[in-house]
Amino acid sequence: MIIVQKYGGSSLATAARIRNVAKKIVAFRRRKKGISLVIVVSAMGGTTDRLINLANMVSKSLQGRELDRLLATGEEVSSSLLALAIRSQGSSAISLTGAEAGVITDRAHTKAKILSLDTGRIREELKRGRIVIVAGFQGISDEGEITTLGRGASDLSAVALAKALDAEQCEIFSNVKGIYTADPSKVRAAKKISQISYDEALEMAGCGAQVMQGRAIELAKKFGIPLFTGSSFSKEKGTIICKEPIVEAPLVSNVTLNEAEAKVSIFRVLDRPGIAARIFAPIARAGINVDMIVQNVSKAGYTDLSFTVAIEELERTIKIAKKIARQIGAGNVGFDKDVARVSIIGLGMISHPGVAARMFSVLAKNGINIKMITTSEIKISTVVPKKDGKKALRAVHKEFIK
Ligand code: ASP
Ligand code: MG
Repeated sequence: MIIVQKYGGSSLATAARIRNVAKKIVAFRRRKKGISLVIVVSAMGGTTDRLINLANMVSKSLQGRELDRLLATGEEVSSSLLALAIRSQGSSAISLTGAEAGVITDRAHTKAKILSLDTGRIREELKRGRIVIVAGFQGISDEGEITTLGRGASDLSAVALAKALDAEQCEIFSNVKGIYTADPSKVRAAKKISQISYDEALEMAGCGAQVMQGRAIELAKKFGIPLFTGSSFSKEKGTIICKEPIVEAPLVSNVTLNEAEAKVSIFRVLDRPGIAARIFAPIARAGINVDMIVQNVSKAGYTDLSFTVAIEELERTIKIAKKIARQIGAGNVGFDKDVARVSIIGLGMISHPGVAARMFSVLAKNGINIKMITTSEIKISTVVPKKDGKKALRAVHKEFIK
């Protein structure tokens, strides 16, 4: 029987924390003799950001191949250190790079997709009785080049390995005790959730909650792999992300606040077939993720178009939007950084009408103006002034989470 465990950067941020994770792994191993352990690691907390900063300091145009070689070192360091720590505590362990672990990807540097997993080496090492530590977030292309899988993708490495190894369990450890009804550092009344569906967790990731990487949740959903999330610092039970909860789903299981987005508007856009495609295709080609698109009612053949992007993409987005606006004969391009997105997520919404109205009236009672609204079957997002974000979060949480 194989168990895959993934440890995030905060759990491995210092030598002491690495020793602590090693201790946990060794103790687990002694308790459960028959189980083979595959451990996937992130880089030590802050490392990937630091490496990207360094690269930006020496070059204005980062080249994917070199950047990937640079970033991959982060996970190589943490995997080796963890293997050393485990061995010094008396268990047998070996660290493997993504390439050595058989993670084969396409050639798209810095955002590679996993094409296949050749688990031969891992299985061999497990047979020798070793704990196998795999550097997450990285792989190798068919040309033998080191690739990385995108930010936060050591979660994805763990889920993919769990699937390929037919693992009994996939456990994701970080510095938080699980998934809460809202970020507990912002809402004191937030409660830990014992079980949540893949779809809710996906919406949460999309709404900016720091849960797990969205791609990893998607993959787990595709193969029906339950994900056990929890803290490496605590023995408390965490949250299971799985198909449908056994009990009846709550109306709202989670409230999120995202303060890292900006609103972009293109005014006086000709209301004609094909125009939206002409606007959003170049933005997508630039790798910018667009959210919450809203188009006003057409007046005299023209409409205004607004959407949100991550704040760090704002400058690039405006540049592209201005160019497109000129090409299609639209008016000005405006932006608003002073926004926050408050969302409610819950499977129970599917079968209970009136949830949106309840959310809007709570905001109204608190004197909070709504600038944009979007919905899905299990999510309602509102954009409000940034200064009202936390107040909105708390008021909405109080309304729906009892
Ligand atoms: N170290 C990588 C990052 O910071 C991958 C990960 O942590 O999941 O994005
Ligand atoms: Mg991470």
